Amino acid sequence: MDHPTLHHLNAPQRQAVTTLDGPLMVLAGAGSGKTRVLTRRLAWIIQQQQASPEEVLAVTFTNKAAKEMRNRVQALLGLDAPAQAHRFWIGTFHGMSARMLRQYADRLGFERDFTILDSSDQERLFKRLCEELGFADAYWTPKRLTHTIGRWKDDGIRPQDLTDREIRKAWERARIQQMYERYQQALLQSNAMDFGDLLLHCLQLWQQEPAILAAFQQRFRYLLVDEYQDTNHVQYRWICALSGLHQNLCVVGDDDQSIYSWRGARIENILKFEEDFPQTKIIRLEQNYRSSGNILKAASGLINHNKGRMEKQLWTEDAQGDAIHFYQAENDEDEARFVASEILTLCPAGDYQQAAILVRTARQTRSLEEGLMRAGIPYQVVGGLRFLDRAEVRDALAYLRVVASNRDDVAFERVINLPKRGIGPGALQSLREIASQERCSLLHAARFAVESNTMKGAAAKGLAAFIQLIEHARSMLADDITPAEMLTKLLALSGYRDYVRDLEKGNDRIDNLDELRNALARTESLQLFLEEVALATDLQDGGPVANRVVISTLHAAKGLEFPWVFLVGVEEDVMPHKLALTEQPEIGLEEERRLAYVGMTRAKQRLYLTMARRRWLFNKPVMPIKSRFLKELPQEILEDRGFRVSSRRGATGSLAGLPGGSLHHQKVRFPLR
Ligand code: ATP
Ligand code: MG
Repeated sequence: MDHPTLHHLNAPQRQAVTTLDGPLMVLAGAGSGKTRVLTRRLAWIIQQQQASPEEVLAVTFTNKAAKEMRNRVQALLGLDAPAQAHRFWIGTFHGMSARMLRQYADRLGFERDFTILDSSDQERLFKRLCEELGFADAYWTPKRLTHTIGRWKDDGIRPQDLTDREIRKAWERARIQQMYERYQQALLQSNAMDFGDLLLHCLQLWQQEPAILAAFQQRFRYLLVDEYQDTNHVQYRWICALSGLHQNLCVVGDDDQSIYSWRGARIENILKFEEDFPQTKIIRLEQNYRSSGNILKAASGLINHNKGRMEKQLWTEDAQGDAIHFYQAENDEDEARFVASEILTLCPAGDYQQAAILVRTARQTRSLEEGLMRAGIPYQVVGGLRFLDRAEVRDALAYLRVVASNRDDVAFERVINLPKRGIGPGALQSLREIASQERCSLLHAARFAVESNTMKGAAAKGLAAFIQLIEHARSMLADDITPAEMLTKLLALSGYRDYVRDLEKGNDRIDNLDELRNALARTESLQLFLEEVALATDLQDGGPVANRVVISTLHAAKGLEFPWVFLVGVEEDVMPHKLALTEQPEIGLEEERRLAYVGMTRAKQRLYLTMARRRWLFNKPVMPIKSRFLKELPQEILEDRGFRVSSRRGATGSLAGLPGGSLHHQKVRFPLR
C-alpha cells in the first residue's frame, strides 16, 4: 500500500490507521505517534470512502489540539477550503457536547443560546445561593462547593444520587443535596450550564429521548479519542453511548501519562474497554520518534519505579544525544538566571519557541518570568492565570453576555453595579425577589422595576441607565455595527473603561481590553465568540506563540513537544508535590511520577532538570532537598552543571542591563551530592 496517507508510518502504525472496523485500542508510550495515527486514520476513513466528514467524530484534549488535527487532515486530504475541514466533528468533549446541546436545548428546558459558566462564575453563584439559603459553613465554602460538585458531575453523580459514599453524615448530606439542587435550578433559570453539565445534559437528553441518541449513533460511523487515559467516567459513558451502533471506536492512550485522576479521570477505563467491547483489537506502538536516546532512557528509568503498569517498551533509532543536564541553583533567582542564559545560548537566532520551561505549580512561574524578562527573552505563560481569567476581561465578557442574552443572571449580577450605578445590595435583593415572583430573569425584573416605578432614587436611575445601555448595544448590532465596535462603545458609554484605567495597573488592563476587542473582531458573530471563549479551557488555546519561550504547567504540556525542555524545581515537596502525598501517599506518588514522566518526554533534543538550594516561599526562606525522582534516574546519563557559589550580583553577571547573547552562567563543577 503506497498511499501518501500511509507514508512515514511504521508497520503497527499502519495497521492502526487502516484497521477500520470494530473497536480498536492503541496503547503506547509517549512520542510513539499515537496522535499522528489518529490524524492519518481520519484522513484514511474519508479516502477509503467509509464515511463523509460529518460522520466522523474525533475527541482531542484541547481546542488547540483540535485545530491542529483539523489543519493536518485538511492538508492530507488536499482540501482547499477550511470550510471543508469544518464539516468534521473534531473537538473537545465539552465543545462537541455544547454543539449537540445547542440543537436540542429546548428539550431540556434551556434555550439555544445558553451560556457556559466557568469556575469563577460558579463560585459567585454559590456565594449568592449561600447567602440566600442562610448557609454559612466554614468547610463548605463556595470554592469547595464548586470543586466538589464538579467532581461529582465527572462521576455522573446528580443531587439525587448522593449517598453516604460522598458524604457520610446524613444530615450534612441533606444540606449539601439541597444546595446542589438549588444550584441546578438557578442554572436552569439563568439559561446556563457549567462544564460538567455539558456532558451530563447530553446523557440525560439521550436517555430521555432515545430517538435523538439513535440519530447520532447512526450518524457517527467512526469515533476517535486521543489521550484516552484521561477520560473520566461521564466521558466514557458519552463515547460508549455514541458508538453504540457501529462500534467503530478507536481510542489511543498511555497509562503512564494519566495525570488527571483529580479530575475524575479513570485508568480503569482502559481496562474496562476490553470488557465493554469484547471484540477489541489492541495495537502497541513501541518506537519513539520524538526524543533522543538519553531522554528516553531517563524517562523510562523514572517511570519504571511505578508498580502495576501495563508492560510497554520504548526504543528509538535516534542517537543517545546530549546528556541530561542537571543544575543545582543557589536560589530561585539563580535558577531563573541559569535557564535564561541557557536559552540565549540555545536560541541565538531568537527562535525562542523551541524552548519550554515546565513547572509543577503555577506559583513557580514568577521568578522564572523575572529572569526571562531581565534577559530580554519573550515568553508566554500557559496554564497560569489565563488571559481570559483576568478580572477586566471577565467583566467585559459579562457585558457582552448580557447584550447577547436576556437570561444570563450571572453576568448581569457581575456588571449591574460595575462601575457603580447606585445599585446596592438592597436594590439587587429586590430585583431577585421580583425575578423569583415573576419567574423571570434579573434583566427582565430590572425592566419591570423601572417601568412600574417600583424602585426609587439612585437605584431607579441606575437601572434605567443600564437597561438603556444594553438596548443601545443591541440596536447597534441590529444596525450592522460589528460586535467589536459595539464593545468599544459599550465599554466607553458604560464608564467601565474609565473605571478600569484608574485601577492599579490600569494601562495593562486597558491593553487586555483592547486585546479582547481584537479577538472579537476576528470572529464572525458575538454568539460564536462567546461560545469559543466559554470553551477555551486552557491557554494552549490562546494567542500566537511565535518566537516565545513557553512557560507551562506540566498538566497543560500534555501532547506537546519542544526541542529543549527545562523541568524546574525538581525538589521534594514540589515534584512530587507535598499535597499529592497527604491522603493516599502511594497513589499520589505514582501520579506525581507520571507527571514528571510527561514533562521529561516533551523534550526532543535536550532535557534540563534544575533545583534550587534555597527559595522564598510565602515570605519565608526554605531549603529544598533534591527530589527522589532525581535519584531514580540512571545516574550515568546525568551531566552535573554544578551550582554557583556566590549570588553576588555583578560578580558573576547579573542579567540586568546586559545585552542578550553575551551571558554565560558560571560553570563550577561539584559532585552531585
Ligand atoms: P504523546 O504520548 O506525548 O501524546 P504521541 O504518541 O501522540 O505522543 P505523536 O505526537 O503523534 O506521539 O508523535 C511524536 C513525534 O514523532 C511527532 O513529531 C510525530 O510527527 C513523529 N512521528 C510519529 N510517527 C512517526 C513516523 N512513523 N515517522 C516519523 N516521525 C514520526
Ligand atoms: Mg499525542
